[in-house]
Amino acid sequence: MTQRAGDRWRWHPPADLTGPRAAIALLAHDLLTSDLRAARQCGDDACGWVYLDTSPRHNRIWCTAAGCGNRNRVKRHHARSRV
Ligand SMILES: [Zn+2]
Repeated sequence: MTQRAGDRWRWHPPADLTGPRAAIALLAHDLLTSDLRAARQCGDDACGWVYLDTSPRHNRIWCTAAGCGNRNRVKRHHARSRV
């Protein structure tokens, strides 16, 4: 059961937390109870994932450096080399 208390969500998890639904619910709980001012949408046009920017300078652009970050760095490199 989820309850809103002030500006925070509180969730009282059921006893059985096995399986993929429980893992997703726990991740959603972590997101909803975290500081949403750090929530950002990935800079990749085809991605759209939302992540928490916990970087020291709060200047993270991609949801993952290895996925969207790498793909966009490669795309930019190819665009520069064609000129
Ligand atoms: Zn992304």
